[in-house]
Amino acid sequence: MDAITNNLTPAQADAVTHIDGPLLIIAGPGSGKTRVVTHRVAHMLSQGVQPWQIAALTFTNKAADEMRTRLERLAPGQAVWMGTFHRFCAQQLRRYAPYVGLSENYSIYDMSDSKSAMKRAIQAAGVSTSHATPEQIASAISKAKNRLITPEIMQQQTGRAGDSVAARVYPVYQQQLLLANAVDFDDLLYHFARLLRENPEIRGELDAKLKYIMVDEYQDTNLAQYAIVRAMSVDHPNLAVTGDPDQSIYGWRGADLNNILDFEKDYPSVKTVRLEQNYRSTPNILAVADQLIRHNRRRKAKELYTENADGDNVILRQYDDGYQEADAIADEIAEQMMAGTAEPRDFAIFCRMNALTRSLEHALRSRGLPYQIINGVEFYQRKEVKDLLAYLHLVNNPNHDVALQRIINTPTRSIGATTLGRLQAFADAQRIPMLEAARRASEIDSMSKRAQTMLWNFVTLYDRLRRMATAPLEELLRFLIEETKYISYLERTAVEKEDSNPIANVDELVSAAVEFDRMHPDDGSLEAFLEQVALVSDTDKFEDAGNRVTLMTLHAAKGLEFPRVFVIAVEDDLLPHYRSKQDDQQLEEERRLLFVGITRAQQWLQLSYAKRRSVRGDIRVVIPSMFLSELPRADMNVIEARTDRDFFDDGADESYPDSWDLVQEPAPQDDAEKEYTGDAGSVIPDVYRDPSASPAKVKAKRTTPTIAASLQTA
Ligand code: ATP
Ligand code: MG
Repeated sequence: MDAITNNLTPAQADAVTHIDGPLLIIAGPGSGKTRVVTHRVAHMLSQGVQPWQIAALTFTNKAADEMRTRLERLAPGQAVWMGTFHRFCAQQLRRYAPYVGLSENYSIYDMSDSKSAMKRAIQAAGVSTSHATPEQIASAISKAKNRLITPEIMQQQTGRAGDSVAARVYPVYQQQLLLANAVDFDDLLYHFARLLRENPEIRGELDAKLKYIMVDEYQDTNLAQYAIVRAMSVDHPNLAVTGDPDQSIYGWRGADLNNILDFEKDYPSVKTVRLEQNYRSTPNILAVADQLIRHNRRRKAKELYTENADGDNVILRQYDDGYQEADAIADEIAEQMMAGTAEPRDFAIFCRMNALTRSLEHALRSRGLPYQIINGVEFYQRKEVKDLLAYLHLVNNPNHDVALQRIINTPTRSIGATTLGRLQAFADAQRIPMLEAARRASEIDSMSKRAQTMLWNFVTLYDRLRRMATAPLEELLRFLIEETKYISYLERTAVEKEDSNPIANVDELVSAAVEFDRMHPDDGSLEAFLEQVALVSDTDKFEDAGNRVTLMTLHAAKGLEFPRVFVIAVEDDLLPHYRSKQDDQQLEEERRLLFVGITRAQQWLQLSYAKRRSVRGDIRVVIPSMFLSELPRADMNVIEARTDRDFFDDGADESYPDSWDLVQEPAPQDDAEKEYTGDAGSVIPDVYRDPSASPAKVKAKRTTPTIAASLQTA
């Protein structure tokens, strides 16, 4: 009991010891909201609540893992369900699949699968894409699902031309998904929310079983998520949510701030706890964050204070270009490490978009600094990995048309586009999955004898694989690689690039299968493995174990903390993003995004922007983000770039807006002047060296690259 409530402020303890009845914890960043959730679970367990009565819903798998680790310390060996909304819904849907028209072995389509499915649905619906691009149609349908709007309702709502196109595609898309026994990400929430609404007995059952539901980062829930937790907290309204309206950054994905603002209306008996002390950051960092967020008009002002010691001033730094920014940041990290004040894991570099990390990667790699990019989906998107997963998907779910289309001719077996087109048309006409259509190839009029044989060969191969479906995953995977002669196919076709090695990726997938078998000796199944892979989110490949610099997007950084933070490219059109600038609400969301970035920092923070940045090979003159002019610059270290490089555009400086008058201060530590001398290997302690960085790439001397050279490395 003591370990659980010790080291809490009175307000935190108040929230932790509240067991029955609705609870709202509303507080700013770093005030211990997430910590309260963990301690509250431990406290409930100590008071006799059963572990299976509790579910803690988080926004990322990483957040759930962290919570589990912390709980393990407070209450060892207790199996409390902790995970993301999507995972929660995926698991519930396995039990109740038939209620929404699925079978329990249903597949989860990832982004690219959904995209293929959408293309096919657009085709089948026979709509023209001149009013709306496939992306716009997909986004309209996704928004509809997040708001629990059914195809029927969407069709009744008359809207813009683009929307009515989406309304015609939506029912076709849904029907094709169901036929494929598949769901997209939005469906996980959508189907489950509807299941609860349409089946009172199931709703009642779950409400009674999961008596205590907790949601961290509630400000980022959308209507579907709201409906789900609300439905499960009717008879037992012990719903506890934490949130910070100032950190709501998923409006573009349908998150609705009203969910948190209306919580007190939804649950009149709610106990509301406010936490005001920040335990994370220095007063300097907090002051910068506070000053920025005050510029949002749609907010309730909150006071945050900290007893933490004063730290370094926050740095606002201008660089000549993105490459200099990358080089200087890598140098700064190396310097701080050599000074013995920090380790690689202390550093995080945040940016608005993943594409911005490329020059940073190069700079870090060339100094032998270990780093990780938090972009979990990437590995599973590689061609060879996707191919093998598609085989697994099809073995698990014979109706998975997207998978079938991917692999029916991979490795090549002379099944061309024409054959495939005929197969798809037959499947569409008969409303049967394509594999089924392939079995009935002889009934397809236009199908040549030769094509029929090829299809028949594929079906036989499939049946051989299918017989292995219940074998341990590793065995199945090795068998399929063997049977399809996949490696020799790769050897024939794949081009090895500098940073990708297809055969090594296949090995890595096999290792993942081995690991999965080891972790799930009894309950391991193909289905569970595929589910896990499908639900990998941005932050999943994050490994605390590695002592590495972390590169991630601002969105993925939510909820995390790092001693030393760089936020790069705080520039107009990036942050705020150009698409958000026209709309006041979206602009405020962009400001919150920067606020989230700033408030991740514990001791040290630098915000930077460049004068010029290359975007897809184009050098563009940059306008600093308007947010930078909102910061308390008098209390910050403002460092201007020394223009020591000759660019072909000398007049660039004139294009800076007048309002942007940088306070000129002598640069206390101008990296541009320092030479990075000696072999990087000798200055950076061996333990930090990234084994994957090849010594050949380590620059012996830091040189200022010319634009041409920079472009080559881009
Ligand atoms: P965010 O809004 O960014 O998600 P949060 O409110 O969830 O922030 P936490 O991550 O729970 O904040 O806490 C921030 C840091 O402060 C953590 O390192 C946590 O361990 C620490 N902390 C919180 N409360 C206390 C306390 N009472 N004593 C000591 N440390 C604390
Ligand atoms: Mg938190």
